[in-house]
Amino acid sequence: MRDLLTLAKYPFLDEAKQYITENGPSITDLLEGLLYERARTIGIERLDNALKNGDVGDRSLATKSDLMMEIFSYPLARMISVGVGDIYLMRRYALGEAYHAFKNLLNEQPLFLLEVSEELNINVEFVENKRNIKVFFKDYLRNAPTRYKKWKMVNRDMENGYVHISTRDLARLILESLRRRIEEELATKKSSKAIEKAFSSDIKRFQNMVKKHKKKTEAMPLGKLSIEKLPPCMKDILKAIQAGENVPHMGRFALVSFLNSLQLNTEEILKLFSNAPDYQEERTRYQVDHITGTSSSKSYKSPGCEKMRTYGICPVDKMDDLCREIYHPISYYSAKWRREKKKK
Ligand code: SF4
Repeated sequence: MRDLLTLAKYPFLDEAKQYITENGPSITDLLEGLLYERARTIGIERLDNALKNGDVGDRSLATKSDLMMEIFSYPLARMISVGVGDIYLMRRYALGEAYHAFKNLLNEQPLFLLEVSEELNINVEFVENKRNIKVFFKDYLRNAPTRYKKWKMVNRDMENGYVHISTRDLARLILESLRRRIEEELATKKSSKAIEKAFSSDIKRFQNMVKKHKKKTEAMPLGKLSIEKLPPCMKDILKAIQAGENVPHMGRFALVSFLNSLQLNTEEILKLFSNAPDYQEERTRYQVDHITGTSSSKSYKSPGCEKMRTYGICPVDKMDDLCREIYHPISYYSAKWRREKKKK
């Protein structure tokens, strides 16, 4: 069994679960016992920090009691997030746990990262003579942020189906894999009555925080944009972003390039993205500036209906009569304006 400090820093590991099963309190003690009050406080703190800062946060890990409370707080935070019953909060929390692990992993030896990868089913090997790591290309593609130039396959050294990466890169792949795993696990869990009772006021508080956040972003003025005139595809992508759902890169690309064609500026576009669970202003600004050509000489054209269909982001079941007359989402939007003018 690994030492308690490692389990406290990486409470998602199987061995941490095993430690809790073998040494942890009963669920009643964990939820009500005075001894475990600190674990409950940290559980709530994990969620608060994830919501506010995108990281579940650091605490003192100096004593054995600190370590145990940190380990016990992890399942509590997970159960509370399920009790809140909101996908935005769950996603934000999953990201907060994964980002926290990523930060800690940057200070670990490569061997430890290999062990964590194995637990997350990432196929990796240490390459002794090159002093780097190689990862199976499918696992690389599943977890790498390939929207960034550095991560694109063409910029990587590949050999017999394996991509060579640094230890830091592996930590980044683990972040994504862990985020997805926690998110998927939480989405399939059912809320427990005991948790709802023990944390009722905090669950209500989190629900209100999320509601407020959604209201604020929904009410944001969108400049010259008329939401009713958007084609079904863009309405869908926008709705998903504003609901805090993770939208695939191609969807974001289609929306940004579409909005750019409608002359929305970077600030107006960023407002739309600020509700996404993985929103990071600096990075999103970089992406938006890249697509719109603000930061480079090239601006990307928004994809037409055929391309949208190829990418699977044209909601065929929601296509209306106008969709059947046009070949580009921009034409849809312009036609809507023209029809309105004619009516006046
Ligand atoms: S047909 Fe074109 S405009 Fe209509 S939903 Fe599909 S992609 Fe959008």
